[in-house]
Amino acid sequence: MDGSLPPVANGGGCHGGRDTMLEAARAAGKSETLDRLQADYPRGPHDQPQSMCPAFGSLRVGLRMRRVATILCGSACCVYGLTFTSHFYGAKRSVGYVPFNSETLVRGQVYEDIRDAVYETAKPDQYDAVVVINLCVPTASGVPLDRLPKQIDGVRVIGIDVPGFGVPTHAEAKDVLAGAMLRYARLEATAGPVQRPRGAIADEPRVTLIGELFPADPVGVAGMLKPMGLAVAPPLPSREWRDLYASLDCAVAAAVHPFYVASVREFAAAGRPVVGSGPVGVEGTSDWLAATGRAAGATAERIDAAKAQALPAIRAALDANPIRARVTVSGYEGSELLVARLLIEAGADVPYVGTACPRTEWSEADRQWLAAHGAHVQYRASLEQDMAAMREARPDLALGTTPLVQAAKERGIPAIYFTNMVSARPLFGAPGAAALAAIVATQTKGADRFGRMVSFFSGVGTGDAAGYGWQGVPKQHPGAREKFRRQREARAKAAASQAMGS
Ligand code: SF4
Repeated sequence: MDGSLPPVANGGGCHGGRDTMLEAARAAGKSETLDRLQADYPRGPHDQPQSMCPAFGSLRVGLRMRRVATILCGSACCVYGLTFTSHFYGAKRSVGYVPFNSETLVRGQVYEDIRDAVYETAKPDQYDAVVVINLCVPTASGVPLDRLPKQIDGVRVIGIDVPGFGVPTHAEAKDVLAGAMLRYARLEATAGPVQRPRGAIADEPRVTLIGELFPADPVGVAGMLKPMGLAVAPPLPSREWRDLYASLDCAVAAAVHPFYVASVREFAAAGRPVVGSGPVGVEGTSDWLAATGRAAGATAERIDAAKAQALPAIRAALDANPIRARVTVSGYEGSELLVARLLIEAGADVPYVGTACPRTEWSEADRQWLAAHGAHVQYRASLEQDMAAMREARPDLALGTTPLVQAAKERGIPAIYFTNMVSARPLFGAPGAAALAAIVATQTKGADRFGRMVSFFSGVGTGDAAGYGWQGVPKQHPGAREKFRRQREARAKAAASQAMGS
């Protein structure tokens, strides 16, 4: 490299300047990366993140792996937020950070700093791999991670660009790193012998479950697959580098979370068939067992045996936990459609399912099933769409993201946070049916309490005039607002006439 990088305009990032950042990244030689990201993770109605920084998905995948070091390069405020969130979710290990300033960025020194950090970190007695993640500004500045050595003393080096202006959700960012690692591992396995996983691995043909799942779910799925002579492989994202080989060495890859596009590409390159949807409820489980069994070459008798073993228990769990409630579902985990299917099978009325994830063929069966059962499925749902659906449907319970839950509670509608409450419980088979119904039953019982809270707090102000901590309701100052509005307009007008004159 010639040592210099194009500068990036101030004010870029996830809350402004997306076009500037895109333009800068293309000018800095990142067109191929951006085109790949755009093809894998197409944008939707909201063209920039509405939830946490997308790079958190990649960071989390790296931090959850044994013997893998993860290094971020980005603005200090972004890295602060990402490390904070990592530790909030129990990372229990250090996040590496290569800082930069205008000078090191423009002179290209930041690339040298990253390379030094990688050499310093890549100790084979401590690590199998070092992951470097370029956040928004280094990506837009063209910091060339592809020029890092592919390995140092046997420690793999994986460099990825995960800009907020190229990866719409943190869910898809998990796939950016999982797919990059899977690709590396696949090429290693193609070149020669590789390590076995640390734990015991089943001799039967195996099914690899794709997506971050509740820990008991793979165990439950293994039980469901057994009558077909199948077992589960280590799931993806992996917990250790050597597990990647075993994940690849499967009879079938199951895209339970349907947005792992780059990872699915690697399974396809390895010649593995991929099935969509997941074993939720009676109908979902029946279809999934049939599709997975067929893809693995199981006989019709064995598929029937698997269904005969699994379905009655799920039926019994659903019957024992009926849901008589209207529920809206919104989230950014990728499992929203499966959760909605289970709710409907348990008796819930689900008029709306919003997911921030994109439409892919791996959730198509779920979309069709939901549509046939009266649910509107909104892919790439924006917060505004989720809010409008919640307001219109007035559900007995809203499952959603933090701002949606807050807005629902302000209206006295019981609401729970999808990630912490729903994703933190089993989803598949009979345990999934029982767990979900239990949450819904508990929460909908709180409707009266929410109603009392709304009336108790009425009159204390709302929004930026909320009365908390004040003796009375804070006063609005329309005069000041009007003054600032006029100033903003004048500035915009001056900038526009200046642009026309230049
Ligand atoms: S790295 Fe994340 S937090 Fe920082 S500007 Fe980009 S999207 Fe926003």
